[in-house]
Amino acid sequence: MVRRLAGTSATVTTDLLPPLTHNADARTYGSESPQAGGAEIGPAHAPTRGLHMITWGCQMNVYDSARMTDVLRPLGYAPVESASDADMIILNTCHIRDRAAEKVFSELGRLRLIKEERKADGRPTVLAVAGCVAQAEGEQILKRAPYVDIVLGPQTYHRLPEMVARAARAGGSVIDTDFPAEQKFDFLPEVAAPQTQGNVTAFLTVQEGCDKFCSFCVVPYTRGAEASRAVASVLAEARRMAESGVREITLLGQNVNAYHGEGPDGRIWGLARLAEALSSIPGLARIRYTTSHPRDMGDDLIAAHRDLPALMPFLHLPVQSGSDTILKAMNRGHTADEYRSLVEKLRTARPDIALSSDFIVGHPGETDEDFEATMALIRDVGFAQAYSFKYSIRPGTPAAGAPRQIAEAVKDDRLQALQALLREQQDAFNASVVGLTAPVLFTGRGRKPGQMVGRSPWLQPVHVDGPDTLIGVERPVRLDARFSNSLAGTLVKECAPT
Ligand code: SAM
Ligand code: SF4
Repeated sequence: MVRRLAGTSATVTTDLLPPLTHNADARTYGSESPQAGGAEIGPAHAPTRGLHMITWGCQMNVYDSARMTDVLRPLGYAPVESASDADMIILNTCHIRDRAAEKVFSELGRLRLIKEERKADGRPTVLAVAGCVAQAEGEQILKRAPYVDIVLGPQTYHRLPEMVARAARAGGSVIDTDFPAEQKFDFLPEVAAPQTQGNVTAFLTVQEGCDKFCSFCVVPYTRGAEASRAVASVLAEARRMAESGVREITLLGQNVNAYHGEGPDGRIWGLARLAEALSSIPGLARIRYTTSHPRDMGDDLIAAHRDLPALMPFLHLPVQSGSDTILKAMNRGHTADEYRSLVEKLRTARPDIALSSDFIVGHPGETDEDFEATMALIRDVGFAQAYSFKYSIRPGTPAAGAPRQIAEAVKDDRLQALQALLREQQDAFNASVVGLTAPVLFTGRGRKPGQMVGRSPWLQPVHVDGPDTLIGVERPVRLDARFSNSLAGTLVKECAPT
């Protein structure tokens, strides 16, 4: 039997795939646990092949896992919660953290046992490794874990059906870690409506890859060169999401504000223009974007924060360090003062904007003075939230071979001091919104009966007592109290000026 895949030119011989089974376990995953295995499960009792997706890393990987699920759906695959029930297991990996490859091999050891148990029961399993570790390690994965059937890099997900067929046909392993000339987005099927049905918030990847080559980072090597999706394709996906009930979209990209997609007018559109077009889609109330680079924060995007109410006043703008020497060694392309003036411009354009950032402590060559400069920048800017990491070596990146690597104990001390300051600032920011009335977009039920949870404009979870009908609705809420990771509030009738 041969099936043609919607949206691709690939033909797949389905006779060679694991047999269709009845999956009575099928169930829908909530939007609160996007890492847990995909978004949509076919109707109970539908004939399906079980697909178990394990997603590590950033939101872009969460989005990619959903797209891989879409591309496999026409072959009869639907997500299952347990790996033991899966005819196909995909481990979607992340290379950004320390010892990423070792963690992958340890997880593969666990999955191998499941694959062997299923084989003993006469149930074959296709085991695939996707994502940035797959891209970076490639052949090495097949050498160390020969029971893996498919290794695929982030740019080849649209070819997954062909790979499944090839693996079945050859009875061996298939590897595809190309950076193909074609863009995967042009070949992936449309986001399935059930994928976002019932979800109030959704991710939408608009840009991938990076040309900036920061000294410490693997992304340019694993995700390839910067590429942007065409405007029409982004708008069409956003419209479908809005029609299925999505009210808040987060645009994703490794350098999302470097977006330069071809517009319907044949010209290149930047992120500001894209955001403006998105803000006129009926039903779409909120737009966010992440992750941005300070160098790509142009005046048009800053002005968009002033002019577009749908653009939320919360921006993740990684700075990494406050020392000019280290910023130069990192190849970041800006100084600490340039970052400070960027923040000033943003705050002038949108006075209620809150900032989040990424920091690395212990980059090779970082002295006590350099670290103090980072602490000074944090004090000057004041962050609502932040992620901070100890520098860790990524083989093949310039910083990996740099002299004056920093001792672990020194990195530990610096990270502790930095995180204490950032925690203080986060607490102060959360305290500063108590007493305000702000629009909250409700996303679902809270843990307690009669409690609903939503998001403030600054991405804080907010709990109120209220009815289920609030889900998908933005309502003014008086923010009454703060807890360590959330706020509590009361619904009010009108949104008073804050
Ligand atoms: N494109 C974003 C930017 O320019 O800041 C960052 C994307 S990167 C995937 C996410 C974060 O991981 C970085 O901002 C950085 O703080 C951290 N990171 C990346 N490589 C690292 C390394 N070798 N050691 C420690 N942290 C690292
Ligand atoms: Fe990595 Fe971001 Fe630097 Fe690109 S700009 S190399 S993604 S840290």
